[in-house]
Amino acid sequence: MKTRPVLLAIAGSDSSGGAGIAADIRAAHDLGATLRFALTAVTAQSDRQVTFIHPVPPAIVREQIRLSLGDGAVGAVKIGMLGSAATVETVADLLVRYPDLPIVLDPVMASSSGRRLLDDVATAVFIERMLPLASLLTPNLPELEILAAAIAGAAPPASIAEQADIVLAAGAKAVLVKGGHEQGDRAVDRLFQVGGDAPNHFGSPRLPVAMRGTGCMLSTAICVALAQGDSLAASCRRGKIQMTAWFERAVEKASRDGG
Ligand code: PLP
Repeated sequence: MKTRPVLLAIAGSDSSGGAGIAADIRAAHDLGATLRFALTAVTAQSDRQVTFIHPVPPAIVREQIRLSLGDGAVGAVKIGMLGSAATVETVADLLVRYPDLPIVLDPVMASSSGRRLLDDVATAVFIERMLPLASLLTPNLPELEILAAAIAGAAPPASIAEQADIVLAAGAKAVLVKGGHEQGDRAVDRLFQVGGDAPNHFGSPRLPVAMRGTGCMLSTAICVALAQGDSLAASCRRGKIQMTAWFERAVEKASRDGG
């Protein structure tokens, strides 16, 4: 029997309840983990628009993290929306003191409705300060392309492997590129690691359901496995299996609601 893990989520709120910290709490609860959290920003949003972003003052973000990590119980950290350069700096300054803590970094750059959640200046600071701290970066394809372009200072190469290499060269130890935005009847996530040979592939059937907050939920599920001592590849595999189960549940619910 694995122990009940304690996680820390550093993330923003989404008033619609779809993404952000609400999704992290749902995922952690479902997996029997205790979730502590440091709120970085309050957003007013629906599935179609983000109308307000209120950053939590960095000193308060710092204090939430400091107290969460103070007793040594947290086994892994997931980072979602940071929102500003000042918050990126604050979080990095603190987490650099915990080199043994697994950190899953979900690069939240925009909402599905299209609003930027990290501007260009903050993205540059994010690349410089956060990538070297991450045990795992979990971009979707648009996020990978944005990061690779910002690092390269030019249009990035077309291939996913080359874009992942650029991100690894900037300091991330491993990158899980999520295939949700691709076409095809299977959704395949690819894990690239520094010094690794071929990437690991984790596939699942592509299910006909739109769901928000999937990036938040996946990174939380991976954190649970890491906090329980699983390897990075095993944690990504468990995260994918769990995410597929959540998608299947959403499909069932949609068909019940529709019928
Ligand atoms: N809003 C917040 C606060 C988030 O943390 C995220 C993603 O992590 C989003 C919005 C974007 O989620 P989605 O792509 O489901 O719109």
